[in-house]
Amino acid sequence: MAKDLVVPLAPNVWRIPLVRDLVNGFILRDDDGQVTLVDMGLSSSGPKVIAALGAIGAAPSDVTRLLLTHAHPDHAGGAAHVARETGRGFTVHHGDAAYAVEGSSPPRDRSFLLGRLVDRFSRPGRDFEPLTVEREMTDGEVLPIAGGLRVVHTPGHSPGHVSLLHEESRTLITGDAIFNVLGLRWPVKAFCTDFRMTQQTAHLLGELDYDVAAFTHGTELRDRPREAIRAFLGRHRPS
Ligand SMILES: [Zn+2]
Repeated sequence: MAKDLVVPLAPNVWRIPLVRDLVNGFILRDDDGQVTLVDMGLSSSGPKVIAALGAIGAAPSDVTRLLLTHAHPDHAGGAAHVARETGRGFTVHHGDAAYAVEGSSPPRDRSFLLGRLVDRFSRPGRDFEPLTVEREMTDGEVLPIAGGLRVVHTPGHSPGHVSLLHEESRTLITGDAIFNVLGLRWPVKAFCTDFRMTQQTAHLLGELDYDVAAFTHGTELRDRPREAIRAFLGRHRPS
């Protein structure tokens, strides 16, 4: 059973498949047993995040930090449930913090019709339950999580979108900068705040060092992932 609830990525790092492999969260564990959760999926995903803790022998009381790569409803949807179960607040990049507090998505790219349509239906408190942000993370900062988790600000998909690099295990969490659903691909254009900027900042991921690339949407790459991401970026230069 535990096998279905979490996928080990590296020592002390797991992926939580929240909607099959299409929507993922992550767990990082410190040597002293403290647990950090990254992204909580859709509103229905909260209980799955909590169940995943049991699969690694941890309890909600072991959770000391909650992180979001960005404030979209398929990442922050289950967040309020997890916050209630663990009694913790969130660490979010400044660019998305106000949206997380409000329970709304950042604006969509209005150069696309779908972006304009979706924006029209976005309302504070309606995209996901409002959250408590207790700390803002900044670009380049190494958070004291599981031996060091580097924040790589990759705005575009949202203003405060971040990718996260666990330096000790050489595991990269791309966030929504790049998807790995039926191959590497860009996130849906219209759901980005600025799609062009998404393409530009994704190039930062080609410059980092890692042995595993994990995605919030799709399965991880374990075989020369940086080369695969560089090849993808090379084929898809911003226009
Ligand atoms: Zn997103």
